[in-house]
Amino acid sequence: MSLTTKILIAMGAGLFVGVFINIANTQGWLAATPDHWINQLMVNGLFDVVGRIFVASLKLLVVPLVFVSLVCGASSLGNNTRMGAMAGKTIALYLLTTAIAISLALLLGELIRPGEGIGLNSTDSFIAKEAPSLGDVIVNMIPSNPIQAMADGNMLQIIVFSLLMGVAISKSGEEGKKIAEWFGRMDAVIMKMVMILMELAPYGVFCLLAKLFASLGAGAIIDLGLYFGTVIAALLLHCFGVYSLLLQLLTKINPVQFFKRIRPVMLFAFSTASSNATIPVTLRTAEEKLGIDNRIASFTVPLGATINMDGTAIMQGVATAFIAQAYQIDLSMSAYLTVVLTATLASIGTAGVPGVGLITLAMVLQQVGLPVEGIALIIGVDRILDMIRTAVNVSGDSMVSLVVAKGEDSWDEKCFNNGKGEA
Ligand code: ASP
Repeated sequence: MSLTTKILIAMGAGLFVGVFINIANTQGWLAATPDHWINQLMVNGLFDVVGRIFVASLKLLVVPLVFVSLVCGASSLGNNTRMGAMAGKTIALYLLTTAIAISLALLLGELIRPGEGIGLNSTDSFIAKEAPSLGDVIVNMIPSNPIQAMADGNMLQIIVFSLLMGVAISKSGEEGKKIAEWFGRMDAVIMKMVMILMELAPYGVFCLLAKLFASLGAGAIIDLGLYFGTVIAALLLHCFGVYSLLLQLLTKINPVQFFKRIRPVMLFAFSTASSNATIPVTLRTAEEKLGIDNRIASFTVPLGATINMDGTAIMQGVATAFIAQAYQIDLSMSAYLTVVLTATLASIGTAGVPGVGLITLAMVLQQVGLPVEGIALIIGVDRILDMIRTAVNVSGDSMVSLVVAKGEDSWDEKCFNNGKGEA
């Protein structure tokens, strides 16, 4: 049985067990006591611990993997003057897809109008954090202490440092070659670690979902059904519509085949709700299933996990429209443009970790003068939307990586068709 199938079964089982425990708790079958052994030993014991171990084991690979893999990539790309062009193309595509995502979300938010009729008045008590200026974002990309950057898991800083080191290695002649060789070997070892830890995924995924659904009531989803449905519709449209279209237009690669290959990436992202924790799986899939050269993938994947969040932007677009409608505030055309711009820029420099989308949403709302307290309206269903939008975020990273690789002649069609490893 393939790993993807195992993960899918584990997901289904986790969902079933979680919902069952939830119903049992709310119906009083477990005597409605939080200290019933099922709640104590299973939900808050076993499921919680195994789920957290799974996420931690993925996260533990992120920094060493990104560093080693990117040094490898950059050291073999160093003499190639196309580095700048490749980076520029990647960033442009990331920004473009995010801007499309949020525009699509605003459009659907206006057409469906999920917040109409709620009829709230603002008292504005919530104070949002200021959005960092573009200048700050750029300056913050330079690590004054690379060890600190790694300890903090600051992805943009790690990317800058690894690129610099890779380029320096490629320019250091014989000595550099030896170091590059060492990094190449290390890369193979870390990829093996990724494979070993991926084997744990079915258990981890089962526990994460069982724990989540045991504590999650379905009531919130029903109350916010229209908002929830609008976000999901926009996510599906963007993921399967816009990405397929872009893939067809820019690469002529069959989108169905693409989505088939990235299934494990989407499943990991869904279960962990973190693009960052999914980096090891995204990178491995990009190189071994999509046939993207390490020189491209080692740069585009971690960068994408950090700056490219189309799914998050979609949630923010719909949420902005929803909150404006709920508070009966009409947004002007320039307010819409501000939303597109702020949400696109806000996604740069915020890490791909669970729930970060809500924090940047506060910045977006503040920019257009909407009551930030409106976030309270949607927070109840955010965890589930977080899982789904993270799957879209990583699909976007994979799609752009493939487009860039194809454009740079770094795509191995044979590997795409036949694959290298088992995932
Ligand atoms: N959880 C998302 C991610 O890691 C970010 C968010 O939307 O909160 O990509």
